[in-house]
Amino acid sequence: MTDADADADAEGDAAPDLEPAPDDRLEEHEGPDGPLYVALDEAERGQKGPFLVAYASPAREERWGYYCTNCETFDNAMDSMGRVQCNVCANYKKPDEWDAAHE
Ligand SMILES: [Zn+2]
Repeated sequence: MTDADADADAEGDAAPDLEPAPDDRLEEHEGPDGPLYVALDEAERGQKGPFLVAYASPAREERWGYYCTNCETFDNAMDSMGRVQCNVCANYKKPDEWDAAHE
């Protein structure tokens, strides 16, 4: 047993090779082109229910779009202003600047 090794582990802030724990805030759903990963902690308020951010990979590297929790589909349209509208249930998210005005 070496005290030096134990101390290195205890530092805990320099372990880039360490695989992070599975992200339990992601929920896998079947999307139009395969599985998509819905971030339960990244919700955008919609009129009928929150839209959740959907990623194409569980590492959240590639943002795919939004998941409508009201009707549980990925079928929605997003414009450059940050508006999102569901094509199935017409759930609607206001533009992003609606929040920014309060900061
Ligand atoms: Zn919907």
